[in-house]
Amino acid sequence: MLNLTDNFGRSIHDLRISITDRCNYKCVYCRTGTNGAAYAELPFEDYLRMARILVGLGITKIRLTGGEPLLRKGIVDFVRDLANLRTAAGSKPEIALTTNGHLLAEIAQPLKDAGLDRVTVSMDAVDPERFARITRVPNGYESVLRGVRASRQAGLDPVKINCVLLRGFNEDQIANFGKFAREERVVVRFIEFMPLEEDRVWTPEIVVTLDEILARMSDYLPLEEIAHERSETARRYRFSDGVGEIGIIAPVSHPFCGHCSRIRITSDGKLRTCLFSVWEHDLHELMRRGAADEKLAEFIVKVVEKKEERHHIGEPGFVPASRTMVHIGG
Ligand code: SAM
Repeated sequence: MLNLTDNFGRSIHDLRISITDRCNYKCVYCRTGTNGAAYAELPFEDYLRMARILVGLGITKIRLTGGEPLLRKGIVDFVRDLANLRTAAGSKPEIALTTNGHLLAEIAQPLKDAGLDRVTVSMDAVDPERFARITRVPNGYESVLRGVRASRQAGLDPVKINCVLLRGFNEDQIANFGKFAREERVVVRFIEFMPLEEDRVWTPEIVVTLDEILARMSDYLPLEEIAHERSETARRYRFSDGVGEIGIIAPVSHPFCGHCSRIRITSDGKLRTCLFSVWEHDLHELMRRGAADEKLAEFIVKVVEKKEERHHIGEPGFVPASRTMVHIGG
């Protein structure tokens, strides 16, 4: 059986599929607000075929993302089809979703029933006014909170909340997020801001680092580190009274490229081996030209072998990725 391993010995078992690069939010640090969709969307059957081949090659976890994946009609049926795939070991792949949560409340239960295992909701503030200023959409906070609660009720546990911190912008929300994690029984994960935005505003100074997040959160309540798996991107902490968990994903200050187990498919069917790739590989073009599954599998294996060793954020001569986050699939 073919197996997905790169030239640095990393085994690749996580796949992210962006099913659209459209988004109903215009988060100020992600999008200029003037650009809409820039790339095509494929029919679900095309993503499904790619996923089936990749699961046959050793992928065990599939995360749907975008743009905003819940903007795509038919996502519930797509999740059901993915849930019917079987890994080489005969098990269902783990299926997860990253969403801004705006349209989640009504669809959380149908997604769970279709086979979704977990959901991550992005929130960069836990107060409605600040939330609206960041997303540039009025009244989003209430919809997202309903989505988070509906997900918990549907058993999509543990619901994870991803928060990107930018200095001078939302780092004053850190303790509030700690409180939110405890009250809503969700895992809040802070993510260091990476140079992947449409406006190119990134500087090292704007990044709120792991050490700083820990210091600020510990001022609110003491934390204890808990063990995390090697390929897990987040360092995990719980509050010392046992109520509530937070995580910190620190690709800038504590890169984890050496343990990276991911590849991505963009909404238009390109394979990307790193968020910061400057090249992408046209899997869909090969499919359209009629390649058989075996040919596609060979192509994927070759592409994965050449996965980049690491990103070069903050280094002299850093070359920006060929797409920004919203068009890659975060
Ligand atoms: N629309 C969905 C959502 O909001 O979760 C999925 C796509 S969105 C691009 C995925 C995640 O990427 C969000 O949590 C967003 O905050 C994060 N993100 C966007 N730009 C980023 C950047 N430059 N650095 C780090 N994370 C970023």
